[in-house]
Amino acid sequence: MLHEKEIIRESLGDSIYSSADLSIAMPKYTFPLKEHSPRHAYQVISDELMLDGNSRQNLATFCQTWLEPEIHDIMNLTIDKNMIDKDEYPQTAELEERCVHMLASLWNSPNATNTLGTSTTGSSEAAMLGGMALLWKWRERQKAAGKPIDKPNLVTGPVQICWHKFTRYWDVEHREIPMEGDRLIMNAEEVLKRVDENTIGVVPTLGVTFTCDYEPVKEVSDALDKLEKETGLNIPIHVDGASGGFLAPFVDPDLEWDFRLPRVKSINTSGHKFGLAPLGVGWVIWRDKEDLPEDLIFWVNYLGGNMPTFALNFSRPGGQIVAQYYNFLRLGKEGYRKIHQACYDVAQWLADEIGKLGPFEIIYDGRGGIPALAWKLKEGVDHGFTLFDLADRLRTRGWLVPAYTLPANREDLAIQRILVKHGFSKDLASLLMKDYVDSVNHFTKHPVAVPLTEEESGGFKH
Ligand SMILES: *Cc1c(COP(=O)(O)O)cnc(C)c1O
Repeated sequence: MLHEKEIIRESLGDSIYSSADLSIAMPKYTFPLKEHSPRHAYQVISDELMLDGNSRQNLATFCQTWLEPEIHDIMNLTIDKNMIDKDEYPQTAELEERCVHMLASLWNSPNATNTLGTSTTGSSEAAMLGGMALLWKWRERQKAAGKPIDKPNLVTGPVQICWHKFTRYWDVEHREIPMEGDRLIMNAEEVLKRVDENTIGVVPTLGVTFTCDYEPVKEVSDALDKLEKETGLNIPIHVDGASGGFLAPFVDPDLEWDFRLPRVKSINTSGHKFGLAPLGVGWVIWRDKEDLPEDLIFWVNYLGGNMPTFALNFSRPGGQIVAQYYNFLRLGKEGYRKIHQACYDVAQWLADEIGKLGPFEIIYDGRGGIPALAWKLKEGVDHGFTLFDLADRLRTRGWLVPAYTLPANREDLAIQRILVKHGFSKDLASLLMKDYVDSVNHFTKHPVAVPLTEEESGGFKH
C-alpha cells in the first residue's frame, strides 16, 4: 500500500513526457480501457493537433481563423449555454433575437422589427431552411391554383454544395446554370430560360464559391419582374449571401441585392465567415413574417414557456451567437467596413502582384465581390508546372492556397484562389508573395517532367 502511494507521489512529479502514460502510444481505434490523467490526455491531443498545420495560413477557407481575445472569453463564458433552452437562458435567446432584427435592418427589410429569422449552425442549415420555405410556399400556390405539386424545380448558378444537398434531400429538380466560356456565373437571360410554373425559386449567390464574384441579383430580379408582368408567373428569390451578406452592406452599401428588391424573400449568411464570429453560426432571415410558412414552425412547451423553433438541430451551442452579438456591438457598420476594407486592399494588392509575375492571368482581382483573388495559368504556353504543383510547393512553407478545377461546363479550367480574411495582414501577404515568387522560380529552373493533376495533388477545396 505504502509502496503504491510512493509510486503515485513520484509520478505526480514526473515531467509529462517521462510519465508512464506517455511511454506508450495512445489507443487509436479501439475504445480506451483505462483512465489517463487530464494533463497527459490534453498534452497528447494538443501535440497531435500540431499536424493539422496552421489555420492562419489556410487561405482556402472562407471561415474566420483569427478572433479577438474578448471572443475567446465569451466562448468560455457561454460553453454551457444551450441555444434551445430559451426559457432557461432568456438573455441568450434575447441576444439571438436582436441579431435577427439587426440583420433584417442591415438588409433593409421593410418590417425589420417584426420579421422572422433564426440562427443556424452555418449557411448550409440556413439554406436548407430557406429552401424548405420556398418549397412549402410553392406548394401552397400550386394547391390554391388547383395545380400539381409533384415536379418542383430550383434555378441556381454554379452553387455551393449545400444547394445540391437541398435539392437531393427534398427531391427537387436542380436547374443549375453551367459556366460557359468566360461566363462563370448566372445572368438574367440564363435564368429566364429555366424558370416555369414549377420553379420554387431562384437562388443567386452573393460571392460564388469558385470565383468569388457576386451574381447579379438586381438584374435577375428585374427580369423576373418583367416576366411576371408578361405572364403572371411570380417567382421568388432567395439570396445565398454566405459571404456577401456580411460584406456588401458595409463596403458596397449602394449595391441593391437585399430586401430593397421586393422579390427577395429570404437571405442566408454565415456568421463564421465575414460575420467574424467563431465557427458554428449562420443566419436565415425572411423579408416578412408572411414569407415563412407557419407550419414549418414547431412550438416546444416542455422546456418551460411555449417557444417557437425552426431549425434542424435541437440542442446547439449558444456561444457563437453571443459572440456574433458582441461583434455587432463592438464593431458596428464602421468597424465591419474598416476590417473588410483592409482585406480588400490586401486581396487587390496580391492580385496585382501575381498578375505582374507573367505566367498568370487574373480571373478575379478582389474588386466587386469577396475579398479574394483567383487566377489561372496563361493558356497556350508550356509552363513546366501546373497550379497543383505550385499549391503543393507552397505547402512546404505551410501555406494552403488551393488549386482546383471549375464545375460544369468549365471542368477543363484549373484555377488557384486565395481568401483574404481578418488577420491576414499586408505584412503576411508580402511574406506569402515572396514564397509564391520563390515557388515559381523553382519550377522555372526545374520544370516538372510530369506535372501534377488535381487528383495527384489531393485537390483540396471548399
Ligand atoms: C460557405 C458557403 C456555404 C456553406 O456555408 P457553411 O456556413 O459553411 O455551412 C453556402 N453557400 C456559399 C455561397 C458559401 O460560400
